[in-house]
Amino acid sequence: MIVKRRKLSFFERLYLPALVAGLWVTVRHFFRRKVTMQYPEERWVVPPGYRGAPYLVRDQDGHTKCVSCQLCEFVCPPRAIRIVPPGPDAPPADRRNAEKMPREFEINMLRCIFCGFCEEVCPEEAIFLQQDYSLTGLARGEMVYDKEKLLALGGTHQDRHLKWTRKREEAAAQEAFPPATAG
Ligand code: SF4
Ligand code: SF4
Repeated sequence: MIVKRRKLSFFERLYLPALVAGLWVTVRHFFRRKVTMQYPEERWVVPPGYRGAPYLVRDQDGHTKCVSCQLCEFVCPPRAIRIVPPGPDAPPADRRNAEKMPREFEINMLRCIFCGFCEEVCPEEAIFLQQDYSLTGLARGEMVYDKEKLLALGGTHQDRHLKWTRKREEAAAQEAFPPATAG
């Protein structure tokens, strides 16, 4: 099909009205409130509840919370997590009541989509999505964070079993559903 070129009107052929209209847009924006940010000098204020990069956390005694159950590796949609279990010859876990620790734990931040499934599924509350959104590296290899780096970035998590306490409360609230009706 041949599409015929539309004829320009007299004003369109003048070119000047389009120029003035363009300048008018520029002038209008000049007086408006600026929304651009001088990154990285100016930083975005992360809202509460923001889900950024997932990091491993230690407990209040500085011990590794992860017990290498590999649930997070299993649920991770883009397969960003790689865990090497300790094996039979590994040293014992660094805390009581923990059977094992991962020998290696890696997250490929180039693959991670910050979905939060790993945090949701973790039975030990060992991995949390933190507010870090600015992840940079000079090579692809630098974007694969190993266990030591994840633990260093994750820091210490003081709240014991906060997630399970919340889940228990939610379950208790659901038990009362539907509410008893009068009569
Ligand atoms: S946040 Fe999602 S994509 Fe990233 S490591 Fe966790 S499960 Fe995988
Ligand atoms: S981070 Fe949590 S879910 Fe993942 S292996 Fe460790 S204990 Fe299991």
